[in-house]
Amino acid sequence: MNSFSFELQKETVNGRAGKFQTAHGEVQTPIFMPVGTQATVKSLDTQDIEQLKAEIILANTYHLYLRPGTDVLESQGGVHQFMGWSKPMLTDSGGFQVFSLGKQIEQKNLAEGKTVQHGGPAQPFSRITDEGVEFTSHLDGSRHFFSPSQSIEIQRKIGADIIMAFDECTPDLADAAYTRQALDRTHRWAAECYAYWEEHQRRSVYGQYQALFGIIQGAQHQELRVESAKAITALGFDGVAVGGETIGYNMPMTVEIMQWIQQMLPADKPRYAMGLGRDPQNLLDAVQAGFDMFDCVAPTRLARNGALYSGELDSHQGGLVFRSDSAKGRLQIGNQQYMKDATVIQPGCDCFTCTHGYSRAYLNHLFRADELTYYRLASIHNVRFMVRLSQQIRQAILSG
Ligand SMILES: [Zn+2]
Repeated sequence: MNSFSFELQKETVNGRAGKFQTAHGEVQTPIFMPVGTQATVKSLDTQDIEQLKAEIILANTYHLYLRPGTDVLESQGGVHQFMGWSKPMLTDSGGFQVFSLGKQIEQKNLAEGKTVQHGGPAQPFSRITDEGVEFTSHLDGSRHFFSPSQSIEIQRKIGADIIMAFDECTPDLADAAYTRQALDRTHRWAAECYAYWEEHQRRSVYGQYQALFGIIQGAQHQELRVESAKAITALGFDGVAVGGETIGYNMPMTVEIMQWIQQMLPADKPRYAMGLGRDPQNLLDAVQAGFDMFDCVAPTRLARNGALYSGELDSHQGGLVFRSDSAKGRLQIGNQQYMKDATVIQPGCDCFTCTHGYSRAYLNHLFRADELTYYRLASIHNVRFMVRLSQQIRQAILSG
């Protein structure tokens, strides 16, 4: 395959349905992408992920670069072979982790009265310059540097089908002056990533075509978001993403940002909302705002914490809504009320856990006993729930 193409199949008031081709097969949108941070979707193996019909999964550049490292990945022929996954994959640029993880660690150190030491005076976790970001490994405290070109080079060695431009993920509360400065940098970095990608024939080190997506930033400033949408779409990436701390966390603001930029986004390119997909309703809102691709660690993280999705897609006055009997659309499986509950997590759910009759009572027991099998059965349900929801939304759009 020599290129990447997105076909918009249908557009309605409820959103868009489309499909795109990658070197590892087709993806139908809207699509929820399970997150496999360290080349594994936590507690699931690749057979589980295939069985729950995930069409594409995500891995994190920052984590894979630090461990096992690109030399190990290269020696194994890339991430697909390494983890035994033959379907499409996407990697982020590492930008988000370098900034957000850094801030978390700094705040934790500060709260504990520690400063980060690297054999010299205390340094912040990450330091941004116009050339890139110097940061500290959360594993061993070693110092590293990502430039836009290096981020693309690392992603070429990981070998995913879709790679992301290196951007600066500005905090929500950044003022307009700082956001403007960061945005100019993000736009210069986007151009540098694009040039590096072109220079290498848009291919991974294994010879396969890699689609490159650009990322729109601008925090909560309308004029900067609009300007960023213009700048990023002008570069002609294969797809367009919207990023930032807000996206997926503050949903009213996320939808507002999506509405600001919607008119500027080309119809024939996929639109990816980064880190969005904690609650089922989030997917509906983002699809309705014209977005096609979503990823979030929430389904597996919530599963591990005993929160299991429940509810159904429904239609109301021509629109799609999510209905659930449980608060937040999920039940707390560890609660006493489920101790003798013989029903499955969600009657009608087609996941392995529900179709094999694993009861709420059994899962309640496994969760309370902290048994390893709980993590797998619960994660299978939650991940399948979000994948199935995105597929149901797609069917609803296609059938009008
Ligand atoms: Zn299920």
